[in-house]
Amino acid sequence: MYEGKSKILQPCADDNTLIMHYKDYATSLNGKCREEIHGKGKINAAISNLIFRYLEKNNVETHLIEAIDETSAAVKKAEIIMVEVIVRNLAAGSFCKKYGVPEGQRLKNTVLEFCVKSDQLDDPPINISQITAIGLATQSELAELMQQALIINGLLCELFTRAGLQLVDFKLEFGKIGGKIILCDEISPDSCRLWDIKTGDKMDKDRFRLNLGGLLDSYKDVLRRLENVV
Ligand code: UDP
Repeated sequence: MYEGKSKILQPCADDNTLIMHYKDYATSLNGKCREEIHGKGKINAAISNLIFRYLEKNNVETHLIEAIDETSAAVKKAEIIMVEVIVRNLAAGSFCKKYGVPEGQRLKNTVLEFCVKSDQLDDPPINISQITAIGLATQSELAELMQQALIINGLLCELFTRAGLQLVDFKLEFGKIGGKIILCDEISPDSCRLWDIKTGDKMDKDRFRLNLGGLLDSYKDVLRRLENVV
């Protein structure tokens, strides 16, 4: 069994399958701030399952097999690539801090960034030559990750726009099954920045990070809107 900040992965009878369980916790600063939010797990499970099914329909292969109950899903067991891919459409979060760019500035091109998937190291940023040098992924795997990330960004922007939400940025994780790269982990307001297109309201984990309150109501609203457009 593997327990992360917001999910638990458990083995099951079938050796090629894992059970992914969404917990009722919000965390920030890589787990240093943590709060139990009853009902969050099931909303995130529903949002992520809906998005993964939408991506599958659009020919993006993901690890999702099927929802098991309100907070758990069966997923394909993959060898996780220890690199997180961050995709940005508008400037926000660490990008603004690092480069002194105002929040909300539209970026002239989609930005792709990589971080090491390591709580112990606080997910440090890493570049392509560093990734290949220490063997986290090969050049051709990275090319595939970048291509997939841009395709997923296009599909998600289209979906969220229909739901009246601006997809500001998000994080993806990938894994390999028999050499094939597939999308893993989750896509939810925990891993995306989503702003209401009309009001600019933050509808994602920034409500927790910035102490704005109302996280669960915002996540429920994101789910309701997605269900209406998918
Ligand atoms: N993100 C994430 N997990 C991480 C780091 C980032 O899901 O460990 C997401 C985050 O929610 C945001 C995007 O990736 O949607 C970009 O995050 P950023 O680099 O701005 O860092 P943050 O401001 O979240 O520290």
